[in-house]
Amino acid sequence: MTNINDFNFKSKKVLIRVDFNVPLNEKLEVTDHTRISAAKPTIDKVLADGGSVILMSHLGRPKGKEDKYSLKNIADKVSDIIGVDIIFSEECVGDIATKKASELKNGEVLLLENLRFHKQEKEGDRDFAKQLASLSDFYINDAFGTAHRAHASTCIIAEFFPKDKCFGKLLAMEIENIDKVLKDSQSPITAILGGAKVSSKITVIDNILDKIDNLILGGGMAFTFIKALGGNIGNSLCEDDKLDLALDILEKAKQNNVNIFLPVDVLAADNFSNDANTKELDIDKIPDGWQGLDVGTKSIAIFDKVVNESKTILWNGPLGVFEMSTFSKGTIELGKSIVSATSKGTFSLVGGGDSVAAVKQFGFASGVSYVSTGGGAMLEMLEGKELPGISAMNKAYVSDNNHTI
Ligand code: AMP
Repeated sequence: MTNINDFNFKSKKVLIRVDFNVPLNEKLEVTDHTRISAAKPTIDKVLADGGSVILMSHLGRPKGKEDKYSLKNIADKVSDIIGVDIIFSEECVGDIATKKASELKNGEVLLLENLRFHKQEKEGDRDFAKQLASLSDFYINDAFGTAHRAHASTCIIAEFFPKDKCFGKLLAMEIENIDKVLKDSQSPITAILGGAKVSSKITVIDNILDKIDNLILGGGMAFTFIKALGGNIGNSLCEDDKLDLALDILEKAKQNNVNIFLPVDVLAADNFSNDANTKELDIDKIPDGWQGLDVGTKSIAIFDKVVNESKTILWNGPLGVFEMSTFSKGTIELGKSIVSATSKGTFSLVGGGDSVAAVKQFGFASGVSYVSTGGGAMLEMLEGKELPGISAMNKAYVSDNNHTI
């Protein structure tokens, strides 16, 4: 795939698919602008070359047009971060968008209304994609968070730019960092998977078992393994229909010489609440009425040693119910171990919604090598799937829309 730095965008109108799906509070103010800031390097490059920028994104899950999901709500924030006054188009396609795009001058930035106000976006409608494409000379995809969706603006649109398209800086960096783990990582390689359910991570585990040396399993999903091995897990989270699957994973790990580290102890609670009564117990001796909501002290020490002896680390999913302070210690201590390993030269990749939230909440983001912005997209890459938004960019199309740069 062509690198963005191989292009000069002087006097070009460049349509950039960004992921501005940012959280808003009840006053419709942006509460976390990470995703807007993450798109800035690509926007800066086009503007610095002397081109103009047309930004398109989705926001939330609107059912038709809903004011609270209008991208107008974030226009001021985008202006602040990009450092250029944003021109807003109340439509993403049609007469208004066409007029505003055609009037756009070099150095200006146009923000289109929410793509998902049109159901054709998620349907991957070809005509809708063509209308979007007609606004510009060049297409950049910089939205990693939606790269696993074959939507009009993330995938189908690539067809209308046979040559004049490339990944944005963010998307290129995401691919590069995930490839560092999957393709050219240094051993020992340790994957740490936590979170609620085995079922949502099973394909990832399956795809990475032949690439890693150590697998640390924590969070709610660990209990399915412990029960499958004959332990008493009390009222802890468990997927009873996945017990055989858990044993299969353990067997496959053995065949691949992967060391599996399950927690040996837990912080158990007598109910799912921050002020529940708690006690540390062996993970396989949890009585009825108690549930494991965090890993225990011995497990933290074991995981710390494994992490600090690793050269490559992949972390997805918290080790406990980190949203409640009483059960956040395992996740915090793991974060500290990863930061410590990273400071000694280990490459650490953190991704997936909840682990990213934990890393940010506890202030570890700057201490790890890379924090991936796309939860679902990252997991699908780790599962070994080809993402539609990425493969569409790599295809050579013969198109009826003859863009050149
Ligand atoms: P996931 O989306 O699968 O990564 O799961 C993340 C969620 O798992 C977080 O909201 C955690 O609170 C939850 N979680 C982690 N450990 C446990 C546990 N031991 N019991 C119940 N939920 C847990």
